Amino acid sequence: MGELKTILITGGMGFIGSALIRHILSVSSYNIVNVDKLTYAGNQDSLSGYSSDSRYSHEKLDICDQKNIELLLFKHNPRFIIHLAAESHVDRSIDSPSEFMRTNVMGTYHMLEATRNYLKTLKDPSRDKFRFHHISTDEVFGDLARTDDMFTEDTPYDPSSPYSASKASSDHLVRAWSRTYKIPVVITNCSNNFGPFHFPEKLIPLVILNALHGKALPVYGDGSQIRDWLYVEDHAKALFKVATEGLIGETYNIGGGNEKSNIEVVLKICEILEELAPKKPTGVLFYRDLIEFVKDRPGHDIRYAIDSTKIQNDLGWSPEETFETGLRKTVQWYLENREWWENVLSGDYRLERIGGSK
Ligand code: NAD
Repeated sequence: MGELKTILITGGMGFIGSALIRHILSVSSYNIVNVDKLTYAGNQDSLSGYSSDSRYSHEKLDICDQKNIELLLFKHNPRFIIHLAAESHVDRSIDSPSEFMRTNVMGTYHMLEATRNYLKTLKDPSRDKFRFHHISTDEVFGDLARTDDMFTEDTPYDPSSPYSASKASSDHLVRAWSRTYKIPVVITNCSNNFGPFHFPEKLIPLVILNALHGKALPVYGDGSQIRDWLYVEDHAKALFKVATEGLIGETYNIGGGNEKSNIEVVLKICEILEELAPKKPTGVLFYRDLIEFVKDRPGHDIRYAIDSTKIQNDLGWSPEETFETGLRKTVQWYLENREWWENVLSGDYRLERIGGSK
């Protein structure tokens, strides 16, 4: 077997996965196999520019379908698996947790078992170079008081929501499979991402699109919850670096160094929109007048803050965008890409694309 040139990515039709695929295809010569079952969160339009790229293919497959995942691994012989597929929205996990347990916990289990069987067929040096990179979140650490130190890689897990508990479970499975079955893994835990192609149920795109439509801008509680924000393209760069250069068995925290309260984020979007989209919907004097405080989310975490010193020191990664520059790019992108989000809002993005990727 020659040098392995393929990366299998799960969840590549989602927000972060599609950014990662765009990044890898633009900076490397790897082939990409994108395993994505296209849930409501998967959007083929986010990768429409690559549907005829011979280095890229999409396999519409559930990560719980272990048998077919194994067949794919045997067929494509990936050098890396980068596992992002997950149910990712905290509010949905509170309303109906079962799909989170199935995909995030059992799906990761099936990916690990498929990998274990695949590795039995790989010989050195290919086996030696193989990595299973698991993508996780800072939410596994629970929350922080306003004066607490930031999360490090050694912070004990203390998840609060069904979403974060399911991600914490999957992280434990990955570490256990690494130790017991010697699967070479790396794990990353990242803070809140924002940027282009973000599904409009999440705070930043929701606020941009509601404002453009003159609709209320809902803010949970008093809006004082603090999150650390990272521009998605910076995350994609960090993920590719960790997959290709990270040390086996290590965990790397990834954050933007941008702690902001939710109300600060919403006010900043309103300010940028005043400048970039001054023509407002009828009856709207200032975008910020649309802000509406709504009943808080149950169990809502107060603060997340992540210390990225390790990945900065060990792998030389640091974010290129500040919160301000990234947010401006994001708002600009939504203003210039109406078709993408209009298809999401109308539901048309769920129609199978003819002549698209397989
Ligand atoms: P997303 O919801 O935008 O995308 C998830 C993708 O996974 C979708 O394309 C969906 O179709 C696919 N998928 C879901 N269930 C599947 C299944 N059973 N089989 C195959 N495909 C399936 O998510 P995202 O925001 O891009 O997050 C990606 C990963 O990063 C997740 O693991 C998430 O926990 C983690 N993460 C996200 C953030 C964030 O701010 N968005 C922050 C830290 C970590």
